[in-house]
Amino acid sequence: MAIYNLGSINADLTYRVPHLPAPGETLGARSMTRGLGGKGANMSVAAARAGARVVHLGAVGRDGGWMIDRMLEYGVDTRRIAVLDDPSGHAVIAVEDAGENLILLFAGANRCIAPESIAEALEGAGPEDLFVCQNETNAQRDGAELASARGLRVAYAAAPFDAEAVTAVLPLLDLLVLNEVEAQQLQAATGRTPETLPVRDVVVTLGAKGCRWINTDTGTTRDFAALKVTPVDTTGAGDTFTGYLLAGLDRGLPMPTALEMAQRAAALMVTRYGTADVIPDLKEVTEHRF
Ligand code: ATP
Repeated sequence: MAIYNLGSINADLTYRVPHLPAPGETLGARSMTRGLGGKGANMSVAAARAGARVVHLGAVGRDGGWMIDRMLEYGVDTRRIAVLDDPSGHAVIAVEDAGENLILLFAGANRCIAPESIAEALEGAGPEDLFVCQNETNAQRDGAELASARGLRVAYAAAPFDAEAVTAVLPLLDLLVLNEVEAQQLQAATGRTPETLPVRDVVVTLGAKGCRWINTDTGTTRDFAALKVTPVDTTGAGDTFTGYLLAGLDRGLPMPTALEMAQRAAALMVTRYGTADVIPDLKEVTEHRF
């Protein structure tokens, strides 16, 4: 059993600045950190930290070797990550002392993934495996189609929200994960509430309120309260939640148990700064006392 994750890999380049630069201004930064990010990479690392076998499908540029190395270090199978001539996806993040930030995002290699490479990567995969993607690559529709045709269960995290992209994959999905805002955006775009979507399992994350699971086969809805923590940084909480959820389902856990583990992992994430580099492992998630 494996999770095939078609997703983005980004370098998060964070610069500390005294104030945000004005147009035309050249501004010296006080410090710089380079972290692994991108919704896809975060999700792969989370699922791998949760103990799953994760094959990441994606691409970086020739400048992205360090990101592959880091994903490998966290337990992700990186052999299907292509190294292209295009630059790696990256985010330039300026953070001022007052906490306000400014972000420039460049998709780069994440939008240059060849569908043939996905077909090749899925050759050995089948109904016992899971396929997941998000909205930050060029190939989610192709990937979902190829995976569905091979009988894999197909999951999708509808972020960042794009009505056209979501509606294109909707008929292929077994599981859809979206946050509250994305659920509203999807309803505005399709006229469908999460309860009436043509997807067997829909999970809506509700931030500090927890999450809701809708099983459209049985017509049941169940709410799960979040763990009580003091949040300092919610970045990566959603990706960690989805990675842990998929790892649980891949391990054969029933949905409520997988959701509980996902919520524990995500609650730990909001208590720390950073993304992929600080995702907790299964031991910590299981043993932590909230
Ligand atoms: P992000 O984009 O910030 O990574 P998201 O918008 O995709 O997150 P959220 O609904 O904010 O997703 O959070 C995902 C999950 O993280 C929630 O379902 C919950 O389990 C956990 N979580 C988020 N915020 C909190 C919080 N303040 N306290 C406890 N758990 C939280």
